[in-house]
Amino acid sequence: MTLAAALGVSLRSFNSASSFPFIHCSALFTRQITMDAKSVASQLKSSGLLRTQGLIGGKWTDAYDGKTIEVRNPATGEVIADVSCMGQKETNDAISSAYNAYNSWSKLTATERSKSLRKWYDLLVAHKEELGQLITLEQGKPLKEALGEISYGAGFLEFFSEEAKRIYGDIIPPALADRRLFVLKQPVGVVGAITPWNFPLAMITRKVGPALACGCTVVIKPSELTPLTALAAAELSLQAGIPPGVVNVVMGNAPDIGNALLASPQVRKITFTGSTAVGKKLMAGAAGTVKKVSLELGGNAPCIVFDDADVDVAVKGALAAKFRNTGQTCVCANRILVQEGIYEKFANAFSKAVQNLQVGDGFSDGVAQGPLINEAAVQKVESFIQDATSKGAKVILGGRRHSLGMTFYEPTVISDVNNDMLISREEVFGPVAPLLRFKTEEDAIRIANDTTAGLAAYIFTNNIQRSWRVSEALEYGLVGVNEGLISTEVAPFGGVKQSGLGREGSKYGMDEYLEIKYVCLGNMNSS
Ligand code: ADP
Repeated sequence: MTLAAALGVSLRSFNSASSFPFIHCSALFTRQITMDAKSVASQLKSSGLLRTQGLIGGKWTDAYDGKTIEVRNPATGEVIADVSCMGQKETNDAISSAYNAYNSWSKLTATERSKSLRKWYDLLVAHKEELGQLITLEQGKPLKEALGEISYGAGFLEFFSEEAKRIYGDIIPPALADRRLFVLKQPVGVVGAITPWNFPLAMITRKVGPALACGCTVVIKPSELTPLTALAAAELSLQAGIPPGVVNVVMGNAPDIGNALLASPQVRKITFTGSTAVGKKLMAGAAGTVKKVSLELGGNAPCIVFDDADVDVAVKGALAAKFRNTGQTCVCANRILVQEGIYEKFANAFSKAVQNLQVGDGFSDGVAQGPLINEAAVQKVESFIQDATSKGAKVILGGRRHSLGMTFYEPTVISDVNNDMLISREEVFGPVAPLLRFKTEEDAIRIANDTTAGLAAYIFTNNIQRSWRVSEALEYGLVGVNEGLISTEVAPFGGVKQSGLGREGSKYGMDEYLEIKYVCLGNMNSS
């Protein structure tokens, strides 16, 4: 039975005659799968979490012209669903709904908003298994990682439900005796939130959590590659009692939706996670109506392993920082800089660890690395490796498409990389670990900072003074010391230089959705 038959909604089976350019996976590979896409989708449908329409003003809505787009499982190429393909008109209606809802949502007490967000968090946690499966289905990451994303993503709603109650103002000592000066913090207004495919839930909650906590309402545009998780989360927002119009979701024609959000004077803030190129367009576009902007853009994370590092800690940290999500995160280690005294030892131990990474469908047991998101992503990886090897780099592990076919790529380590190769200049966004050799601490800092990006950096050292010195010298927004996984809802996430503007998560994440108002009470000495 096909998915369409199993589900009876606008889902349809993979048509082998379609233009999808991938080869089929092997029989061995199929047998290894512990959970199949069809049963996952059926389960989601029966729990009401498999939504395929946009959400406008609390109503599930088709594209006005009836158009749909396909969402595919990157591990198999199978079409999971056809979702509404929306554009400017639907976006304008979503903006109007958010604008109308803003009036009442922003006037609720902090405690009322906090309770709704907490309820939404509780529902995400209650549906953790199904949501995790949905992420694996449309994004490809191993189920264990997907479940981790649900906990991480839900955590933003919990954290910001608490922060909602702490939007404190100030009382300023006046310069004139008959005045009293106050600072109020008020919500920005309607927020347009544009999110990527690599964290289909967490990149939404990291934005929408603080926005709603502050009293803003939102129009979310998830990636067209992974809209199903966003729609499921939006369904749960309704079930949590968050009023219609507070959370809206439109997806489809990205530039049309983006331009409608940018053009509208009712949208007061754009928050975006994605490529630097699109971020720059949005920043320029926001100038027309002078919107507030936060941008989480591409990184080029250095992972620096000093001679005095604990090799086991460094291998474990670098492995996590490089290979999670198949290397498809903006904080993934993009360059592994290793000091010459430890280079051979680290390279050997690291390659062994990489060799043990099991590649396969995210639903298979024991899989540590799933597919890349699509064929274009694989081609990018291939072109970066080709550029590096043509300039003297050596492939010491992997370096080819995986025998599973499709979008699977072998976990790869390349050595003799230098900072002039494409792979050191831009994010590879794939399972390729380039090793660069350096001599001194000064060299490491110079090489690490020799990039226009500045999101995450990692250092491995057992020298406490060095860890401070280097952390301070790195031109990055986040630094992990002896740790490769550092993102958490309680700490600020964001980049410097061309990696972006603003911070998400933590108490600082609230500021992005608040305006500061100064109120002066005059003539206070008259009776
Ligand atoms: P990636 O390469 O990681 O997919 P993108 O920056 O292309 O990163 O995509 C991130 C998000 O930005 C996605 O939701 C995508 O649809 C959206 N997007 C892409 N182009 C535009 C655009 N011109 N205007 C608004 N959103 C866009």
